Amino acid sequence: KGAISFKDVHFAYDAARPILKGISFEVPAGKTVAVVGPSGAGKSTLSRLLYRFYDIQSGAITVDGQDIRTVTQKSLRTAIGMVPQDTVLFNDTVAYNIRYGRTSASDGEVFAAAEVAQIAHFIETLPEGFETKVGERGLKLSGGEKQRVAIARTILKAPPILILDEATSALDTTTEREIQEALDLVSKNRTTLVIAHRLSTVISADEIIVLKSGEIAERGTHAALLEMN
Ligand code: ADP
Ligand code: ADP
Repeated sequence: KGAISFKDVHFAYDAARPILKGISFEVPAGKTVAVVGPSGAGKSTLSRLLYRFYDIQSGAITVDGQDIRTVTQKSLRTAIGMVPQDTVLFNDTVAYNIRYGRTSASDGEVFAAAEVAQIAHFIETLPEGFETKVGERGLKLSGGEKQRVAIARTILKAPPILILDEATSALDTTTEREIQEALDLVSKNRTTLVIAHRLSTVISADEIIVLKSGEIAERGTHAALLEMN
């Protein structure tokens, strides 16, 4: 479930300056497609269009064959889990922060503390500081730990579609590797769109799209792209 299709998508924030110039690609259900390219190429814009922060000017974006403009925003956003680059946490416990994603997405669904704890443990999110408040006088979390909370939140929401927007780019190399492993677990069997800076972080993607100035410059598997360059 969750097959994504972009068909000849054109988008501009400002009519005078096109950002995406006819983008077509598909993410088959359960597969992972990575979008790489230089800063300003339009990568984040692509992911925002899928989440429908903005409407496209022409072309079509579909999920499971349905144009996203015909789906309610609520059901679209329930279907999509996003792990952003910088996770902002609530001034509350880790447990609260993990639960938030699901309760906000689906009408006060309440999760058993045990279930939340299990997920926190699974991604090693400080099980011992679990009920301690995050913040100045409480628990201090590193960037990597915050990302783990964001990932745990996404697991609990269990969306068929996952957007990882440079989710590890703000982290040091060791932490990046650890978080990458957690993300690989989460994205297994989910339709995943990964936005990345470097080709080396998306080796296992089913397809990699190289975006330059709003156009697809190259595409292929990691091995195929290495051969081309
Ligand atoms: P990338 O993720 O590849 O770095 P972005 O999608 O963030 O690229 O940005 C593509 C272009 O769109 C950039 O020139 C950026 O300045 C511009 N842009 C991004 N967000 C906005 C916005 N909200 N309003 C106007 N221009 C924007
Ligand atoms: P703006 O309205 O300022 O032009 P956006 O609507 O793209 O910008 O995004 C508003 C804020 O939400 C930005 O800080 C952006 O980084 C953040 N954001 C973008 N996509 C998501 C998302 N899928 N989930 C949560 N926050 C997001």
